[in-house]
Amino acid sequence: MSITVSNITKTFGQQKALDNVSFSINKGEIVGFLGPNGAGKSTMMRILTTYYKADDGDAEVNGFDVLTAETNVQKSIGYLPEHNPLYLEMYVKEYLAFNVDVYQVPKSKIDSVIEQTGLTPEAHKKIGQLSKGYRQRVGLAAALLHDPEVLILDEPTTGLDPNQLVEIRKLIREIGKEKTILLSTHIMKEVEAVCDRVIIINKGKLVADKKLEELRESEEQIIEVEFDYRVEEQLLNQLPNVSSVKNTGGFVYEITFATSKDMRPAVFDFAHDNQLKTLQLSRKSKNLESLFSELTH
Ligand code: ADP
Ligand code: MG
Repeated sequence: MSITVSNITKTFGQQKALDNVSFSINKGEIVGFLGPNGAGKSTMMRILTTYYKADDGDAEVNGFDVLTAETNVQKSIGYLPEHNPLYLEMYVKEYLAFNVDVYQVPKSKIDSVIEQTGLTPEAHKKIGQLSKGYRQRVGLAAALLHDPEVLILDEPTTGLDPNQLVEIRKLIREIGKEKTILLSTHIMKEVEAVCDRVIIINKGKLVADKKLEELRESEEQIIEVEFDYRVEEQLLNQLPNVSSVKNTGGFVYEITFATSKDMRPAVFDFAHDNQLKTLQLSRKSKNLESLFSELTH
């Protein structure tokens, strides 16, 4: 197990930032840590990186306890903090050299992380001259220097433009082939684009922990169809995977299916088999985003 979190609770004053949260992450997984602002994502990440101490519960990274084996935990983790604080006056290589000294790894690692993170064309510049996307690459490069088992990335794509976003997600997926990654975000689409699994927290509590595949399978879809004549709801109910049928006025029906498979062809064939004409047919899928808003309401 790369990360194990057991019953972690953290309170700031009166406020419970984390309330009895447990999860574990296997080696090699890319897990999205999803939740609205203030849900407790950064707090959990700071506990895992040993910057905060939990009030209660245990956590282990790479088999090391965050309380009793702090140094080994830090050696096991590459951490990209929220807002990625960088020294803007430093040159890219100078900044990485500074980190090499801190981590005590060979200087040759600098060139390899520069290449790995696609920084080569910008590597001669000052950090302050770089776009936000390239600054994130510098943060990632620094996090990779000591070749950690686990990467903890706190909102790595916040503030990036759409092109940079795509590039950084691609890079994270690439890095994720060799590392365990926990990345926080408040964007559902990001999880869909990058992660194998999602852990959702809301107001300090864990509300979902699911493989993306499972989530997709649990999707529902609503098909709105208008026929040229009335049809018995009972008949529509016999279509495969139907969970409910509602007549919404005239000859318009809203059919909810519990499947992710597109059911429009089945509805179309149903009309044909029953001598009905299909005047309109549309599919509204209940996607991950609506699930997220349901869970974090
Ligand atoms: P997220 O990263 O999901 O947006 P955070 O973990 O930053 O959420 O914050 C969770 C809650 O804990 C918030 O209500 C926040 O105000 C509070 N919090 C976080 N850090 C501190 C701190 N150092 N002192 C006081 N309150 C804090
Ligand atoms: Mg945060």
